[in-house]
Amino acid sequence: MSGFPFSAVVGMAELRLGLVLNAVSPGIGGVLVRGEKGTAKSTMVRGLAAILPDVAVVAGCRFSCDPADPDPSCPDGPHEPGAASVTRPARLVELPVGASEDRLVGALDIERALTEGVKAYEPGLLAAAHRGVLYVDEVNLLHDHLVDLLLDAAALGTCYVERDGVSVRHAARFLLVGTMNPEEGELRPQLLDRFGLTVEAAAPRDAGQRGEVVRRRLAYDADPAGFAERWQQTESGLAARIVAAQGLLPDVVLPDATLRQVASVCAAFDVDGLRADLVTARAAIAHAAWEGRGEVTAIDVRAAARLALPHRRRRQPFDAPQLDEEELDRALAGAGEDPDDDPGPGDDGPGGGEPEASHETTPAQDAPSPRAEAAPDPGPDGQPPGPAAQAPAQPRPGAAPAGPPAAPGPVFRVKRLEVPGTGTGAAGRRSRARTESGHVTGAQRPRDRAARIHVPATFTAAAPYQVARGRAPGGGLLLRPGDLREARHEGRESNLVLFVVDASGSMAARARMGAVKGAVLSLLLDAYQRRDKVGMVTFRGSGAELALPPTFSVEAAAARLSALPTGGRTPLAAGLLRAGDLLRAERIRDPRRRPLLVLVTDGRATAGADPVAGAHRAAGLLAAAGVHSVVVDCESGPVRLGLAGAVAQSLGGVLLRLEHLAAAPLAESVRAISGGFRGVAPPGQQEQEVA
Ligand SMILES: [Zn+2]
Repeated sequence: MSGFPFSAVVGMAELRLGLVLNAVSPGIGGVLVRGEKGTAKSTMVRGLAAILPDVAVVAGCRFSCDPADPDPSCPDGPHEPGAASVTRPARLVELPVGASEDRLVGALDIERALTEGVKAYEPGLLAAAHRGVLYVDEVNLLHDHLVDLLLDAAALGTCYVERDGVSVRHAARFLLVGTMNPEEGELRPQLLDRFGLTVEAAAPRDAGQRGEVVRRRLAYDADPAGFAERWQQTESGLAARIVAAQGLLPDVVLPDATLRQVASVCAAFDVDGLRADLVTARAAIAHAAWEGRGEVTAIDVRAAARLALPHRRRRQPFDAPQLDEEELDRALAGAGEDPDDDPGPGDDGPGGGEPEASHETTPAQDAPSPRAEAAPDPGPDGQPPGPAAQAPAQPRPGAAPAGPPAAPGPVFRVKRLEVPGTGTGAAGRRSRARTESGHVTGAQRPRDRAARIHVPATFTAAAPYQVARGRAPGGGLLLRPGDLREARHEGRESNLVLFVVDASGSMAARARMGAVKGAVLSLLLDAYQRRDKVGMVTFRGSGAELALPPTFSVEAAAARLSALPTGGRTPLAAGLLRAGDLLRAERIRDPRRRPLLVLVTDGRATAGADPVAGAHRAAGLLAAAGVHSVVVDCESGPVRLGLAGAVAQSLGGVLLRLEHLAAAPLAESVRAISGGFRGVAPPGQQEQEVA
């Protein structure tokens, strides 16, 4: 059956260009496509393979060896020079987010090695994708473990599998294409950086274009083969242009002045390391080849920078990749004014640098960017942020009647909070759990096919039957499938971390809210690193509010938190009851994911009928439901009532003072985070009094 033709997708010029440039020059390193659901991004990616040149492979080799240069470590090799070859279309291989490790890297059959004495290896998706396209839809939801395997293979161009001392290695070079919906959570920075280019995909806003999308879709659905045939000529033209550009690529010249533009654009956008320069240069060269030019110009640099730089800028961990076009033009124009040289082709660039007052790129979000605030270093005493740095904030017009939201305090590395006991949830980095990887804690009889053979336990199981099975003296051990034992592993799972945040006046009046927000942001960052799902309930005034339904998008949580208004009375009971409702629903939706409730409060309860007793009753209900809680006590000042301790007791949970949340003295913790996350400066300590 014919797929939807690549060239028939309406609009999406950036995505088309990103994919084509990679097809011309695979060294660029792939494309990450960001965008909401319902754009044709997957359709376009799936259409890509059809316009890629065919590949010649050694006949019968399951690892797609190139007859001209076979992989010396090929498991199906060694191939004789001049071995028969076949030519086949380039493949597009899809990696499902829930794939097992065996499916990705291939399965070494240890059962057969032990019971039949043969080395049996079933190639995985990495082998299938060699010399083609590896496509990961919803790459942001891929398990960490698979991400690591994928990154290793992509970096080395090799897939390596080892199980119980038996190992296999084969070449795995592929064009990596990932798509993601940013609303469902961001990508780990390490993985983000691995993609050569990023493009934003959006459905066309133009009514004419939208109509054309529908028209083509209907025509395709009515007659896929006929539709494909009508587009065949355009597709062939595109394929031929790719081949021509591939041929031209080695001869494209990158003049010094243009290379300087690449460097100066990368410097202007404050990117990490030199990877960005390299990718931009490669993409610019590919763009020149694609346009049929033998020399790279500013036009090529501009096109390359727009795709190569947005995700490489130093930024807050919760900010989306972005690039300001005017800034880009200024940087390109600025590079031309090198006094040592001719102006160079800088004036080829479209637009030209307008001498406008420099303005920061502003993300389209309602939250104040913590980066915009002044960022004084935390005190050298290592104390967590108190009501320090009393810089009065500008009240924002139109803010909630309770007063403008307090800016978050510094972000720091927090202690690991975990759910006690051993869970069985999805792999992650928080609480102890039975997992498929992790360290071995014992052996058991496998339920179906053994995941990981526990060799000593298998031999022990087989030993008593050797005489009965007629083992010859000096002969090997006689194993039967029933002897096989698999290893039991323990690792860590991810959890649902539900924040229940007191946003009432009793917290705000003490100018604590900035520090509290900083602490919750720190916990969110921690949750992001541990692959947790997060949710947030806030309470103030007359009730509680579900500020964020459970999601993997920590960015969404950070944005809601930054904008959180504060003030009013303290309906603690309402907050806890709302949390209880939400956890009941989540237990049905995602039963294996154990929740961790983090209550951020000073322990006061002043709203609702019989507020204090009500709060303790609500806390008791959560404890009875088996919810594990941590109470972060935000009370400050010389006279302390210790109310949060009593709430923690009713919850049957752990009490932790806000000041004790940091994993190490604060100054160290802040630095540690900055090192681990590119470009994270501690946000400002701006605080304000709220009536
Ligand atoms: Zn081979």
